[in-house]
Amino acid sequence: MKLPNSCNIDPDGDLVLILLDHGDTCERVVKHLKGNITLSLSQSGSRAKRSLNGQVKVTPSESSHAVARKSSDAEDGQPQEIRLNVSSKHLTLASPVFKTLLRGGFAESKDLNKGLAAEVRLPEDHPAALWLLLYIIHGQPKRAPDWVDLGMLTEVAVLVDKYELHEATEIITDTWCTIIENAKYKATCSPNQHLQLICVSWVFRKPKMFFKRTHLAMRYSDRDLAAEGVTDLPIPIEVLEKVDHARTRALGLCLGKVQGFYTQYLKKPSDSSICSAYCDTMVLGALMKGLAAENLVPFPVSPYKGISYSKLSEALSGMVLSSLCEALVGMNLVSNLTKKQCSIKNALNRTVREAGLALKGLKLDEF
Ligand SMILES: [Zn+2]
Repeated sequence: MKLPNSCNIDPDGDLVLILLDHGDTCERVVKHLKGNITLSLSQSGSRAKRSLNGQVKVTPSESSHAVARKSSDAEDGQPQEIRLNVSSKHLTLASPVFKTLLRGGFAESKDLNKGLAAEVRLPEDHPAALWLLLYIIHGQPKRAPDWVDLGMLTEVAVLVDKYELHEATEIITDTWCTIIENAKYKATCSPNQHLQLICVSWVFRKPKMFFKRTHLAMRYSDRDLAAEGVTDLPIPIEVLEKVDHARTRALGLCLGKVQGFYTQYLKKPSDSSICSAYCDTMVLGALMKGLAAENLVPFPVSPYKGISYSKLSEALSGMVLSSLCEALVGMNLVSNLTKKQCSIKNALNRTVREAGLALKGLKLDEF
């Protein structure tokens, strides 16, 4: 029988939080934490201790013990319990949600009121993120790492939102946000990263970051974020719907313009040509070739999955859409006046540019 991992965040604590570890929580926490902590890794009644100081320091036998435990966990695929000894006082001071849970008449609060040690199971919470937050809540912010990656900061944001820990943890989370904000995540990041960055800026109330990240998601996301992620991330659905609406509107304007030209040139009878029958045919041919080269045939329909405004505008701007008149002007065979009559390039570029200018980031205080 495996015994759980455990850690004394407060050695005099009166409450045990029981988390479920589906993977590498211990390693992630060890990697992130500063200073020495004692983490017990117990199995089959034996007890091995590791002194942790940013690096794992263990004796060879303990190391192999830990490796064996990890390997065994991986084999049976069962999540492992992590028991964190904490102070209910610190939790209730930091979190209105914990205050209700621990002082509001629930079973856990009855144990605490009787002076008994209580246990709370939090199987849905990300264990490494909560572990880091608990150190901050317990007045040990120096244990917190100087920075965390976007994935971890998102998990931290989920828990800060869930337990309303904004004020109690902002001394550290502010720094982490600033580092992520300055990390220059590529505008072309994945839809999941767009969601994570919007989530972080929303939960930690960062107006500039929120404006920038919603703007970039409108321009660079190649799918609807609301549909993408019926995620558990704490982002108001109105925010995602506005981002998606702006994106699909811009794509609709650009593609509608192209489709309009295509239909116009295809269906115009030769006896009422836009320019001359030869010139019209050349424009139509160039347009058909350009659309095929960019995989825009058949015409995409809303919600335009797989297409971002950024990529579409690049593709349309790069299309060679010369008309016969333009070619003749280029060869100095006709007057320059005829050029404007049959060129669709300028009108298309103008629509693309205007659609792009209409994409503006969202203001945090409007939600
Ligand atoms: Zn022409």
